[in-house]
Amino acid sequence: MDTTLSTTDLEFRDDVRAFFAKAAPEKSQQLINNPDTYKQGVIQWQKQLFEQGWVAPFWPREYGGAGWTVTQSYIYECERVTANAPDVVPFGLKMVGPVIYTYGNDEQKARFLPGILNGNDWWCQGYSEPGAGSDLAALKTRADRDGDDYIVNGSKIWTTYAQYADWIFCLVRTDHSGRPQQGISFLLIDMKTPGITISPIRSINGVHSLNEVHFDNVRVPLANRIGEEGQGWTYAKSLLAHERTVIARVADSKSRLDRLRELATRERQGGRPMIEDEAFRARFTAIKVDLMALEYMELRVLAAMANNQSPGAESSLLKIRGTEIQQALHELTIELAGVYGGMIAGDSATAADLGHDFGDQARKDFMYGRASTIFGGSNEIQKNIIAKRVLGL
Ligand SMILES: Cc1cc2nc3c(=O)[nH]c(=O)nc-3n(C[C@H](O)[C@H](O)[C@H](O)COP(=O)(O)OP(=O)(O)OC[C@H]3O[C@@H](n4cnc5c(N)ncnc54)[C@H](O)[C@@H]3O)c2cc1C
Repeated sequence: MDTTLSTTDLEFRDDVRAFFAKAAPEKSQQLINNPDTYKQGVIQWQKQLFEQGWVAPFWPREYGGAGWTVTQSYIYECERVTANAPDVVPFGLKMVGPVIYTYGNDEQKARFLPGILNGNDWWCQGYSEPGAGSDLAALKTRADRDGDDYIVNGSKIWTTYAQYADWIFCLVRTDHSGRPQQGISFLLIDMKTPGITISPIRSINGVHSLNEVHFDNVRVPLANRIGEEGQGWTYAKSLLAHERTVIARVADSKSRLDRLRELATRERQGGRPMIEDEAFRARFTAIKVDLMALEYMELRVLAAMANNQSPGAESSLLKIRGTEIQQALHELTIELAGVYGGMIAGDSATAADLGHDFGDQARKDFMYGRASTIFGGSNEIQKNIIAKRVLGL
């Protein structure tokens, strides 16, 4: 792994900076911050990245990937966070895309990869079900063969952004005998197919990103199955490893840590800046050290991925440490906001109404951040994976 910046890397960094300066990502970010224009903002930004050829850094070049080295990906991510540029939505580019180009047939690659890259097709992930979250292999949504189609019946839950999706990638049961992991298949389903309904779930922060998706005799062509019937578990696992790597969000945490330092230098207690408070400093420094260690772990995994290796069980380590650090940052920031971090919608005034500039955001981040140790496979489950696959227990 080589992360020293060569002349070529420095030129690349300048190119990335120039692109962000010209592309004006703040315009897309503004749309993304408003729930009414969220989807428009995401697609607008993705199309700009696509035109630049940078939308899929890790995809192989032959499928439209950028072909960056690990150092270039790292530089891009740091510059993206500094420029406050949006991240891409992961479901197409970082999850189902790699499954399709790895396990799909030529027709599937030709049909689905272009729409994932250029942002025309919005994807969502249909894994979890009521009664099948951590124990994903207990899933019951069934797909029964009928001629050239499957007939799908069942429900998925916690489906992020299903309300915007054109397609859903689903794990379904095609065989009911044998071990639960056997008999699961991986299907790509057009969300416009008759028999699909979506029920919204509103989160504690008031946002609607989660949904239940119901399938009532939904007809799906056999041609939309990825790989072999009954082998969906294998494909699903490779996707989950990619998903967990993405969840670590190291660059984002580094930027939050910098912001926290700024705020703690400004906020005072007993006439002294909080950054000089010993207890605060100890917690701040502990997070910083953990984050540095995580950054090197992430670089190792990125280096492996750049060499076409699957991230594997190390992605579980990244997921655990990344989300723990995110939550520690949220906690310290909300504590720094003091009483202004506890004001909730429905109170007579928000923190912003009282002239406080980070209390409301600190509360929103804290609340949403609780989910990070749950989604992508809960952290307890990641510990089970490490115990089994890394420690051999
Ligand atoms: C914000 C958010 C977005 C999500 N988006 C999606 C999405 O787009 N698509 C999708 O398919 N899913 C999505 N999920 C679902 C997510 O993957 C599941 O919530 C997660 O896998 C946990 O499953 P569960 O909620 O059923 O909890 P459960 O499995 O019921 O777990 C409850 C608790 O028990 C613990 N536990 C369970 N089994 C064990 C065990 N064997 N050992 C130790 N502890 C255990 C868990 O760690 C957890 O703390 C999302 C979830 C959230 C919160």
